[in-house]
Amino acid sequence: RLITFEGIDGAGKSTQLSLLRQVLQQKGYEVLVTREPGGDAVGEEVRRLLLQQCMVPRAELLLFLASRAQNTEVVIRPALASGIIVLCDRYIDSSVAYQGYGRDLHPETIEQLNNFATNSLVPDLTILLDLPPEIGLERQTQKNRMEEAGLTFLQRVREGYLLLAQKYPERIRTLDARRPPEEIHREVCTLVFELLAG
Ligand code: C5P
Repeated sequence: RLITFEGIDGAGKSTQLSLLRQVLQQKGYEVLVTREPGGDAVGEEVRRLLLQQCMVPRAELLLFLASRAQNTEVVIRPALASGIIVLCDRYIDSSVAYQGYGRDLHPETIEQLNNFATNSLVPDLTILLDLPPEIGLERQTQKNRMEEAGLTFLQRVREGYLLLAQKYPERIRTLDARRPPEEIHREVCTLVFELLAG
């Protein structure tokens, strides 16, 4: 099973991911956690490049896709094939939300490119942690060059995510990320155990 976490910066993806990991492991599931951009050595190099250098949106998109292609084939698919539950911090929807809606590239083209990069590996469940960007920015402690784009950018990204959730209501489940982490965690567990039981 592939479960991905999405949302704007500060929505609490990493917190929810590690809470879920603990619960699953306690229940005896084998779990692999990976992040985007990142994953293997190539992905981490690409991450470093993306976070440090300014570039045009198309170049940015293609680097995210390169990282995703590598991570999907080398890390995610083999784990899934051996029955491991994979939790991924960002995946295909980040590109559509950030580079599509945020940086004004064509969202449908990005969906096609996502399919190419992942060889059409789609998550079984995507948890969208939805948050007003004002709160996300307040929560952030350290910033990298990606976050300098500010509020209106993040508003477009958030809208993009919500449109994706409307488009794929079965896969993408939206949770209100303004609430306390424990409360969100309980809902994440409900969704995940529903999936694992099905
Ligand atoms: O959430 P994480 O720390 O992994 O994201 C790294 C940075 O890359 C974030 O600032 C996020 O806004 C940005 N990002 C992006 N486009 C993506 C994915 C992440 O601009 N497709």
